[in-house]
Amino acid sequence: MPLPYARFHDGSRFESPISKVVCVGRNYAEHAKELENPVPAQPLLFMKPPSSVVRLEDPIVLPPGNEPVHYETELALLIGRTLRAAGETTAMEAIAGVGLALDLTLRERQSQLKASGHPWEVAKAFDGACPLSAFVPIDEFRNTDRFRFSLSVDAELRQDGDTADMIKPVPALLSYMSEHFTLEPGDVILTGTPAGVGRLESGQQLALTLEDRLRVETNVS
Ligand code: ZN
Repeated sequence: MPLPYARFHDGSRFESPISKVVCVGRNYAEHAKELENPVPAQPLLFMKPPSSVVRLEDPIVLPPGNEPVHYETELALLIGRTLRAAGETTAMEAIAGVGLALDLTLRERQSQLKASGHPWEVAKAFDGACPLSAFVPIDEFRNTDRFRFSLSVDAELRQDGDTADMIKPVPALLSYMSEHFTLEPGDVILTGTPAGVGRLESGQQLALTLEDRLRVETNVS
């Protein structure tokens, strides 16, 4: 399977493919609380492979089997330049675009794996586990200190995110990630989910917004 590419909202695609999606768990205190998880002392990083990336605009295909799949709405960042052990200012300058993603999770499977101390990839990295929107170029935002985003399911607001509530804000998060993994042009960062996660059911209509710059409607097939 060829590697996927990040897209911009004007239809163009970014020059380099997505080689990895680097994610952080429990970056919003209210979400950690709703799952009864402690807030970690350091960011809890994990990855999704390129094979998990699909277009958010396309109907969401739930994996086979009848395991509960949960949505987590997250601000997504497109990396435009190589970052290795980068400082916060350098990290911010490397952001090429801002978009939205769903970090789909087999929640019960993840809980079982966590309880037995095992890696949780099968719950987070399966094919289709990373529906990703088109990106808005970073220079189209007047203010890059704070982003608000939301998810409605069947016209009911479920997640109302504000990056001001992040435990590790974007500049510090990117800097920390780049100490552990070289971030390459085309890579995508998922920045954690606010409270309000829940199960996806076939037939649901989803609407996601990012400020007044992006609105994506999709459904669960
Ligand atoms: Zn997540």
